[in-house]
Order: sequence, then structure tokens, then C-alpha cells
Amino acid sequence: RIVYVNGDFVPEEEAKVSVFDRGFLMADAVYEVTSVLGGKLLDFPGHLARLHRSLSELGMGSPVTDAELLAIHRDLVARNGIVDGLVYLQVTRGNPGDRDFTFPDPAVVKPGIVLFTQSKPGLADSPAARAGWRVISIPDIRWGRRDIKTVQLLYPSMGKMMAKKAGVDDAWFVEEGKVTEGTSNNAYIVKGGRIITRDLSSDILHGITRAAVLRFAREAQMTVEERAFTLEEAKEADEAFITSASAFVMPVVEIDGVRLGSGAPGPVATRLRDIYIEESRKAAV
Ligand code: PMP
Repeated sequence: RIVYVNGDFVPEEEAKVSVFDRGFLMADAVYEVTSVLGGKLLDFPGHLARLHRSLSELGMGSPVTDAELLAIHRDLVARNGIVDGLVYLQVTRGNPGDRDFTFPDPAVVKPGIVLFTQSKPGLADSPAARAGWRVISIPDIRWGRRDIKTVQLLYPSMGKMMAKKAGVDDAWFVEEGKVTEGTSNNAYIVKGGRIITRDLSSDILHGITRAAVLRFAREAQMTVEERAFTLEEAKEADEAFITSASAFVMPVVEIDGVRLGSGAPGPVATRLRDIYIEESRKAAV
């Protein structure tokens, strides 16, 4: 696999990042994951816009221009022969050459940048989407700026492991009785034909897939309610689903052992998944 590190395309075995890189020592880094279908990037402008927002919230600059970033993404997809898969991008505050809590002067220490691809053949026709996910709920004990896409993914990883241990697919975070989001996705329920998902704030990541799916839902005359919903409401919902760049729209069929509806993926989730994949393919770059 060819990866990109600070200006160079190199075989992964030759890629090097300093032990003093702040991404490594302090999780002082942000990231994006962009899906690739048919060799093209999905929702690229959205991921770029969110990257800029994450960087600016942390007082970091971009190490490359937007045009360069697109070119690097495309180059990596081509060099690695990716048809269906993902491109992972990480920007770190860089390597100050020592460990120190204070941010280094950005005029002296340049941000670091790493990109790599992951091949996922058949990404859009996953068997999991036909079965639907089963989830458990766990307390949301993450920090208060979940709108910034940082690489602090330890608790989400622990959540995924709790789900695995429980024999299910994912965990939904709950705070003050209300669902925030999934370990690495936004959460939705459907009740009486209404699509309900938490409103945007610093409580959740502003999903790029969320924005696209809500737009498609409104265009298809579906009713969308952006508000927090309780875990109890979720368990009484007709159906549920999650969205993320890598899972698209994934139906959820069970929460904490409670089966939703018939226990099969619901019609709203299934329809939105089809629309999202079709429309995103059309707009892919
Ligand atoms: N919430 C969290 C906590 C996430 O990690 C992700 C995906 N990284 C999402 C939501 C979904 O965001 P997107 O649709 O942009 O992938």
C-alpha cells in the first residue's frame, strides 16, 4: 500500500512519523474519512469543509491547499487501485521535537499530514445492511466538544468492544436519558413516519452523511424532526438507523435486546440508503 506522509507518497513500510508528533502524544489531531465508490470520492466538499472547521476550532492551519488535498486523495486512490473503499486523512499539530502541553508556535512548527486508503470491495452492498444492526446503549462519557473530529477515539473504541462483548454490532451513547449518537455514526429513529435525529450542537459530530441524508429525506417529502430523543422513545420506535461516511445508511433493528417493528430493516431506512448511495455516486468526484 502506498501512503502519503508530509509531502511524500511512500510504501507504508517506509512511512515515518516522529514519536514527538502531538497527534501521537496528545491526540492533538483531527481526521476525516471519505468513502470511495467506483473509484470516486463521495461527499468530498463536505469532508473538506468539516476539516477546515475542526482545524479552525483548534487554532490549526491546513498544511496543504484544498486543490492539493483533492489531488492527493485522487492520487492515492489511483496508486492503490481502490474501486470501493475509504481514504483516511489526519492532520496533526505537528512535531515540536519535545513533549510540552503548550501548543507550539504555528509559525515554527508546521502541521503534519498523513493519508492512507483502505480497500472495501462491495462497500455499498453490505450483507449487514440487509440484516440491520443490533445496538446496546452505554453512557456517553466523552468530552464536551464532540463536534470537533479529533482522533481521541479511545472511548468510542471501548464502546465498540462493549458491543462486541454483548454480541451486537454497535453502541449508542446516552447522556441525561437521551441518545447522542453511535460510536462512530449519527443515530435516528422513525416514529409514525417522522424521522427524528438529534439537533446539531457540540454534543455530537456534525455528520457529512447526516447532512446529505436529511437533505434527500426533505426532498422526498419526508418529515424530519431535529431534536434529542430518549432511549425509551427509541425502544418504542417503528424503526431506527445510523449514518456515517463508511456505513452510509445502516438500519438498526434492535436496541438493548428490544426488537424494533418486525425486527427487519424498516422501509424508511432502506429507502434512504438506496437514495443516498444513488445520489452520492452521481455527485462523486
Ligand atoms: N458521529 C461520530 C462520533 C463519528 O465518529 C462519525 C464518523 N466519523 C459520525 C458521527 C458520522 O459522520 P460522517 O457521516 O461524516 O462520517
